[in-house]
Amino acid sequence: MGIRHDQGIVLRSFPFGEADRVVVLLSPNHGKLRTVAKGIRKTKSRFGGRLEPFSHVDLVLYEGRNLDTITQVAMIEPFHNLRSDLDRVVMAGAMVEVADAVAQENESSVRLFLLLQRGLRALEAGSAHSDLLTAYLLKAAETIGVAPALEHCAGCGRRDGLTRFSFPAGGVLCDECRTPGAYSLRDGLTLYLAKLASADLGDLPDINEAFSGEARGVARRFVEYHLERQIQSLAVLDV
Ligand SMILES: [Zn+2]
Repeated sequence: MGIRHDQGIVLRSFPFGEADRVVVLLSPNHGKLRTVAKGIRKTKSRFGGRLEPFSHVDLVLYEGRNLDTITQVAMIEPFHNLRSDLDRVVMAGAMVEVADAVAQENESSVRLFLLLQRGLRALEAGSAHSDLLTAYLLKAAETIGVAPALEHCAGCGRRDGLTRFSFPAGGVLCDECRTPGAYSLRDGLTLYLAKLASADLGDLPDINEAFSGEARGVARRFVEYHLERQIQSLAVLDV
C-alpha cells in the first residue's frame, strides 16, 4: 500500500458516508477504478467540479484495502462544451454507461478507453449525429471480442444473400444458415451498419434517415444481448 498515480475518465459517482463519494473511472491501464473522494460533498471541497462524469483527470491515489482514496486531481480534458447541450449530455451518458458495463477491474483497457475518449471528443466538437452512438456501440462490441459479422455470413462466410440477422449467431446469416428467431433485414441495412462499424467517430459517413433509427436499434440490442443487460440511457433515447 502507498501512493500511486493513475488517470481516467469519470463514469459515475455515488454518495458514500456523510460527506464522501465513490467515484468510478475508466483507466486505460487498470480498467474500471473504484475510488473514494473524501469530503467532496462539503461546500468547499478541494476537488471542485473536477470529478463530474465525462471528465478526464489525472489522479494521485492513496491505496486502501478496498478502495483507493483520491488525494489529488488535475484536469486533463474537461469536455465543457458538450455539457451545455442536453442531447449531447444524454449521448455522453449512454457512452459512459456502455463503457461501465463493458470494462473490468484490474485489466488493461486501452482500446475501450480510447474509444470512449474519441466518442466524447466527437460530442465535444459539436456532433450530435444520431449514428455516432451506433458506431460507438459496434466498436464497443469489437473491444470485447463480439464484433458482429456484417459483411459475411456468421455461419458459412459467404458474402451474398445475407438476409437475416441473429444475435446469438453473432451477425448476419444467409438463407441456408438462417436459424429460428433470426429476423429479416431491409436491403442495405447491413451495409450501412458495416460502414458505421469501420468509420472514424470524428468523421462519420453522411446520415441516411431511412436506416439510422433501425441501425441503432440493431446495434443496441446486439450489445445488450452480449452484455446480458439493458443499457438504460439508450432505452431513454429510443422512446
Ligand atoms: Zn451461411
